[in-house]
Amino acid sequence: MVLVTPLTKLLGSVPLVQGGMQWVGVPSLAAAVSEAGALGILTALTQPSPDALREAIRETRRLTSKPFGVNITLLPTINPPDYEGYARAAIEEGVRIFETAGNAPGALIKFFKSQGCIVIHKCTTIRHAKSAEKHGVDVLSIDGFECAGHPGEEDVGGLVLLARAAQELKIPYIASGGIADARGVAGVLALGACGANMGAPGQRLVHPIHQNIKNKIVESKEQDTVHIFRTLHNTARVFKNKVSMEVVSIERKPGGAKFEDVRELVSGLRGKKGYELGDPDYGIWSASQSMGVINDIPTCQDLVGRIEREVEDIIGGLSKVVVKAKL
Ligand code: NAD
Repeated sequence: MVLVTPLTKLLGSVPLVQGGMQWVGVPSLAAAVSEAGALGILTALTQPSPDALREAIRETRRLTSKPFGVNITLLPTINPPDYEGYARAAIEEGVRIFETAGNAPGALIKFFKSQGCIVIHKCTTIRHAKSAEKHGVDVLSIDGFECAGHPGEEDVGGLVLLARAAQELKIPYIASGGIADARGVAGVLALGACGANMGAPGQRLVHPIHQNIKNKIVESKEQDTVHIFRTLHNTARVFKNKVSMEVVSIERKPGGAKFEDVRELVSGLRGKKGYELGDPDYGIWSASQSMGVINDIPTCQDLVGRIEREVEDIIGGLSKVVVKAKL
């Protein structure tokens, strides 16, 4: 048995997409996910320049002949990136699948669609999903409040958001946020999604991340995340550690905080160093409530194969819930 949905028909893969993750979406992970039959995604801004992204795309191609995508996220940054340069570099290198996310993505989506690309747009409200639908994206990625990183400011959980998506959206959508195992995937398929976007499972797999961080994800529970930047309207769900708790306490001071008050603590480069050193307390790193569901560190191949098998079992098992009345 194989799982067939509008996403698998579009991408020719199993209905699993690796989420774009800053510092994590590198060639070794994207290639391993694509090799396992799902869609691997390189994160553009993880590369220091458009030329470095070109090299990352070439490296990914050396590791896999299967399709993979590139994520471009438009959110406030300490150093404004050359988004257009990254987009052009990826197109010129022959990438044809993009995940976009963040604020005001219209121009970027228009550019990718003018180049004949498949665009998956991630958003956290039905309002934004409908707007991206009008911009011509192919698939929406509906990101519930459980997610790692930026859940938006409206705090609607995946269960309700996906039910709303089923009511409102005309194009296929995948589910993001809090999905880490086959039950999560089967659940979102039941909610009308055509696949699942998974981030935290990627964090436990990626090679450049220190083993200590992988172990920390396995040890951690669904309570071990916290929101930073609530008061700056750029909310991010990150791992609960000394640095993130310090950011929250600065934000709660009377009179509130400006970004400059937390800039040094939250810098992405500091978070990257923590991944490399294997020190979960070194900086800020994105984490999902789905850490509570994660209990091991499998290979991509094993994880994708296991999810596929178990989703089929769960969906098959659900038929037992339907009990026909005796006549
Ligand atoms: P960075 O070092 O520029 O900033 C660190 C954090 O501070 C980020 O969450 C950023 O959104 C936030 N920030 C920066 N300036 C801000 C401001 N003026 N007001 C409020 N918040 C502000 O970020 P980075 O780690 O180099 O990441 C680059 C970009 O990629 C950021 O926008 C980040 O949010 C985004 N990102 C992408 C993914 C992804 O999956 N593609 C995941 C996480 C973060």
